[in-house]
Amino acid sequence: MCRFSALLSRPLRGSLITEVVRPARAISSCIDPSIGLSEDQKDFQKVAFDFAAREMAPHMAEWDEKEVFPVETMRKAAQLGFGGIYVRPEVGGSGLTRLDTSVIFEALSTGCTSTTAYISIHNMCVWMIDSFGNEEQRYRFCPSLCSMEKFASYCLTEPGSGSDAASLLTTAKRQGESYVLNGSKAFISGGGDTDVYVVMCRTGGSGAKGISCIVVEKGTPGLSFGKKEKKVGWNSQPTRAVIFEDCVVPVANRIGSEGQGFRIAMKGLNGGRINIASCSLGAAHASVLLARDHISVRKQFGEPLSNNQYLQFKLAEMATRLVASRLMVRTAAQALQEERSDAVALCSMAKLFATDECFEICNQALQMHGGYGYLKDYAVQQFLRDIRVHQILEGTNEVMRMIVARNLLQD
Ligand SMILES: Cc1cc2nc3c(=O)[nH]c(=O)nc-3n(C[C@H](O)[C@H](O)[C@H](O)COP(=O)(O)OP(=O)(O)OC[C@H]3O[C@@H](n4cnc5c(N)ncnc54)[C@H](O)[C@@H]3O)c2cc1C
Repeated sequence: MCRFSALLSRPLRGSLITEVVRPARAISSCIDPSIGLSEDQKDFQKVAFDFAAREMAPHMAEWDEKEVFPVETMRKAAQLGFGGIYVRPEVGGSGLTRLDTSVIFEALSTGCTSTTAYISIHNMCVWMIDSFGNEEQRYRFCPSLCSMEKFASYCLTEPGSGSDAASLLTTAKRQGESYVLNGSKAFISGGGDTDVYVVMCRTGGSGAKGISCIVVEKGTPGLSFGKKEKKVGWNSQPTRAVIFEDCVVPVANRIGSEGQGFRIAMKGLNGGRINIASCSLGAAHASVLLARDHISVRKQFGEPLSNNQYLQFKLAEMATRLVASRLMVRTAAQALQEERSDAVALCSMAKLFATDECFEICNQALQMHGGYGYLKDYAVQQFLRDIRVHQILEGTNEVMRMIVARNLLQD
């Protein structure tokens, strides 16, 4: 039985009202993210919103400013089943669907987008091990990752291979029952602070078919990390290079067979794209509410800004873009769950559309705050900074266009 079943049978505690997640007025009906969900989905959405309001929102500015990786908060999130949301229950996961997962990440993201985005990457890594690992690997790695006793990182990008990920150069040479890894990964989320590195590396010839997926554990001799990167946003999670120098890893840590690594990495990213788009939805949702409340109380020219029809129209456009984005993301999540043939393209479309639109929503929300929106005392600027990178990672939005076009032209 998944942990949510136990959770849902308990009465939920009342949520703490915070400025970011629960503004003065209730969530407006037309952008209410619970519309159309099942009763179970509404219940765990409420759990996620409450967690975001109580455990994350009060700290998000401090985590950003002091660059805190909130390990204990994430472990509390894992107690609610958020460490392995779409991982199978027998290895500690919650066994929920892709749509359920999207609903949860959207809600959590209203409390801290950067932290939620890391949790989403962690979930993707655990799912890859659960889905493509053998029984021994699933039971060895997944339980401590689902509980977030341990944390995971996804290692694909290299200094010389970003969008062209299949050209990666990190090698894993087989020597008896071990692989010897050499090379380096760039921009790794959680890098240096996490325990389990899911590494795409070359065991064969050039191209995608020469790539395998190998788990490297922190503490393995030959594994080291670059300096912590200084970033525009996503400051509650570290980003570092991950370096392998004659790093010896048992063959038993290879996930799937030799040559399957690129396929495993891309399968992980299909869900990852839904998840990261969901994080953008949460940031945009929170930003719409913040803008609405700001223009309702801020007076200029002798009346509230909300009386101005230009700003009313802007608010309506933001709400429309938000709901359109959510529909795209939830449709793609459903397609992925059903393993439909259009799922890969729909996940790419949803990621492209939602991350672009939600960034525009946050930018407009900041504009509606006037000068105050540019101050760090106001949460809207952090949502903007945190979601900018969603247009770049898990495949840039240009790569998303390539995937969609390829799908259209292959017929
Ligand atoms: C904060 C942060 C965290 C990250 N976390 C991770 C992580 O955990 N794991 C991981 O593996 N990676 C991670 N990444 C890396 C990320 O996935 C890459 O930055 C991304 O894939 C783009 O690669 P690149 O930076 O090398 O850009 P490039 O590939 O050099 O692209 C530069 C620009 O050119 C465009 N471009 C490239 N090729 C084409 C083309 N054929 N047609 C049109 N436009 C093109 C790109 O879209 C982009 O706009 C992270 C990045 C950041 C910034």
